[in-house]
Order: sequence, then structure tokens, then C-alpha cells
Amino acid sequence: MERVADGVWLLQGDLRGSMNIYFIEQEGGGVVQFDAGTKAMVRKARAAAERLGGVERVVLGHADADHRGTAPSMGAPVHCHADEVADAESDAWNRPYWDLSQLPVAPVRWLYPFLLRRWDGGAVKIAGTVAEGDEVAAGFRVVHFPGHAPGLIGLWRERDRVALVSDVIYCVDSARLKPLPQGEASVPHPAWAWDHAQAKQSVRKLAALEPKVVAPGHAEPLRGENLRAVLEEAAEKH
Ligand SMILES: [Zn+2]
Repeated sequence: MERVADGVWLLQGDLRGSMNIYFIEQEGGGVVQFDAGTKAMVRKARAAAERLGGVERVVLGHADADHRGTAPSMGAPVHCHADEVADAESDAWNRPYWDLSQLPVAPVRWLYPFLLRRWDGGAVKIAGTVAEGDEVAAGFRVVHFPGHAPGLIGLWRERDRVALVSDVIYCVDSARLKPLPQGEASVPHPAWAWDHAQAKQSVRKLAALEPKVVAPGHAEPLRGENLRAVLEEAAEKH
């Protein structure tokens, strides 16, 4: 596991290590898990959580198949934003608003339904919800970033300017299934968007926080003295 910031650990797995799960150490012991990766990561996630004192609760960044995969298997209550509850609790591996026909590369377009079914861990029982401003653990507070998904959330810690952002930004090219060059970010592809204009607005909201670390749902965290310009540029691109 990689240490992302004080008391924050990143576990990577599946598809060339591109799926991210974060563990946040709590003052009283144990961890909060942010995002749940894919089903193939269950064994590694449970072992990692065990070493850190056990998972107290799982908080989903959003309910997509590649972010809820381990959630039913962690033995802890699962929380998410109110606008994600219905899809988190659904058996479906896809979202009603996705439009895969927008993906330009045909083989990638055909591959996704197979990948998403494999990644998914199935329906998740949601034990409670979180909303903008709620403190989750170790100084991290919930920020609502709707767009890629209606109830997409990130976790923000003011004191060291660390943002765990799930799919507010992509550090991968989902239309070609490959990572972006290190240090680059983009708004998630419109094929996956609940509301692409709002997704861009949410990247601007993240930029305005002036983060030093932006830890995404896929690939490596972005780091810099102030990532505002990088994020504002990403919001303008697509
Ligand atoms: Zn994702």
C-alpha cells in the first residue's frame, strides 16, 4: 500500500492496478474505507483493512460497479450520498443514464459490458447517508461533486489540502482504457455522465479548493503546491 498523506493509505488492484481504494486511519483505531474498487480486490482489501485495525465503515464515492465491488464483503456498514442509494442498492451493473455509444473506439465499447459485470460485486445494502460538510474521519469532510454521478462525493481535508475525489476527475483515458500521462487529469468521458456540464462545474469546485494532493478513483494521485491551474485546465478541455 502507498501512503498518500498523513494516515491515508491507497490500495490499488485489478486492471493493471488502476482501481483505487483508500483507507483513512481514525484517532480511536480502525479505518474508514473510501470507495470500494472491484470484486477482484476483496481478498486484498480485507487483508489491508485487517492490518490497519479493521474497517469501521465503508463510504462510497459513488455507486458505479468499479467503485462498489468490495462493499458487500467488508463486514462493515456502507454509507453513500442520498442521490446514490437507489443505484447502490440495485442489482444492475450499469446506470440508466450511461450511453456507451459515445465511446469512439469500437472494441473498447464492446468490452465494457463484460468488464463492468466482472468488476461489480452486486447490490449493496446502504446503512446510512452522508452529505456536504459531514466529517467522516481524521479531519476529512464530505464535498458533493455531482455530474459524473448524481451523488458523487469527495473527501476534503483543509489542514494539508488533501482531496480524495473518486471520479470527479479521471487520470485515465476511459475511451482507450489506458492511463493519462503522469500529472494530467480530465473530466470523466461524457459517455458515463449523469450531467456532463455539472461534472465540469464540479471539477471547477475542486479547483477552487486549491488542493495539494488530488487522489482519484483510478491511477496515481496528482501532487503539486497548488493544483488549481491543472484542474481548471482539465475542466475546459472536453
Ligand atoms: Zn470509476
